[in-house]
Amino acid sequence: MAKKLTKFILPEKDMPTSWYNILPDLPEPMLPMLHPQTHEPTILPPPLFPAALNDQEFSKEHTIEIPDEVLDVYRMYRPTPLIRAYRLEKALGTPAQIFYKYEGVSPAGSHKLNTAIAQAYYNKKAGIKRLATETGAGQWGSALSLACQYMGLECKVYMVKVSYNQKPYRRIMMETWGAKCVASPSTDTNFGKQVLAEDPNCPGSLGIAISEACEDAFSRDDTSYALGSVLNHVILHQSIIGLETKKQLEMADVEADMVIGCVGGGSNFGGMAVPFVKDKMKGKKIEIIAVEPTACPSMTKGPLAWDLGDVAGMAPIVMMYTLGHSFIPSPIHAGGLRYHGMAPLVSHLHKLGLMEARAVNQKSTFESAIQFARTEGIIPAPEPAHAIKVVIDEALKCKESGQKKTIVLALSGHGHFDLASYDQFLSGKMEADAYDEAKVKKALSQLPKIDYKG
Ligand SMILES: *Cc1c(COP(=O)(O)O)cnc(C)c1O
Repeated sequence: MAKKLTKFILPEKDMPTSWYNILPDLPEPMLPMLHPQTHEPTILPPPLFPAALNDQEFSKEHTIEIPDEVLDVYRMYRPTPLIRAYRLEKALGTPAQIFYKYEGVSPAGSHKLNTAIAQAYYNKKAGIKRLATETGAGQWGSALSLACQYMGLECKVYMVKVSYNQKPYRRIMMETWGAKCVASPSTDTNFGKQVLAEDPNCPGSLGIAISEACEDAFSRDDTSYALGSVLNHVILHQSIIGLETKKQLEMADVEADMVIGCVGGGSNFGGMAVPFVKDKMKGKKIEIIAVEPTACPSMTKGPLAWDLGDVAGMAPIVMMYTLGHSFIPSPIHAGGLRYHGMAPLVSHLHKLGLMEARAVNQKSTFESAIQFARTEGIIPAPEPAHAIKVVIDEALKCKESGQKKTIVLALSGHGHFDLASYDQFLSGKMEADAYDEAKVKKALSQLPKIDYKG
């Protein structure tokens, strides 16, 4: 019988020193990436990414050592705590045991720093002096700004203009950490100028910002591009979340029956899930659930198909669950979950039946977030609030059935810069979000026609 402990803090000396790469353990290999023009198998476009990250993208090694310089930064905020949610359990009256792995303790406030540090490091080692990227609400841009500051790189962030204007705090964080942040569409790129010439009041979109960041990186020898989610190497870096969690569950003397996380591009969920998927492939019974918004339901409503990773068609074509690269979801508050597709790796795991997916609506996620905040204290970001909603649903099912399941939640970040959305919800002004089936149908009719036989 375990003692009634609340926090499971892994000593710094026991922090994992390698990432886990699931690729060689998969029962069926993933399909390759295809070049956006030739439709032939391709690597990550070399002027955009350094060779080391490309090697990791397709690596056959089971583990990849974390470089010392990256470990040094990880140690400033890792291992992150695993916390037993006693007060939430009590409020729900559930016999389930709920644990949450809290990535909000990173200085950037989310899991995104785990990969930002690694990407900045490998770029620096390749002689790159500057990184360009896009950001929506600013979580990725702020994480990369701090990572570049640590690694001595310049950082240029193209931030979607509506967010730039409505959410100044993350821009100020980026500038505090030394990055240059501009509203996208900007006059700093040809693509941005072209968009502004057509529509001077264009509010911007993630797709436009990606195209600007890629053009920036393509046009300068000293500059690479960095992506905060979706790709295999990003999930590899995030595997530290799941590896630590497994050690912490051992400390708590329990085994996970369920692992639940939210999915935008799939990186925090993927990073948490992969070590548990490994157990599942060996026959262990464990439910692994990805949660997405009903306004952008790539896994629960989209087909598994070849699609472009970005709107302009600069990124490779990948096999993934998608709503179509031209689909622009309604502006829900969980900005980090508004990607049209899903990580090819997470898509593959879903196809193989190694995990499941669910969609929940915005209002129910805020109700759940508030219940979490009022019991556990932490105000979650709107993204992981999606996972909290499913954790609560499952804990209530346990109450009905009397099952004492162990539920593990990936709590990817805090919501301190999302308080305006809490204000909207609390004052009753949050509107119900809508899934626009006609818009998805139209976007799906624009999928690239690929005739890949392997
Ligand atoms: C960006 C973000 C997400 C969504 O991205 P994933 O790659 O799916 O993890 C989720 N939670 C937080 C806090 C984020 O910043």
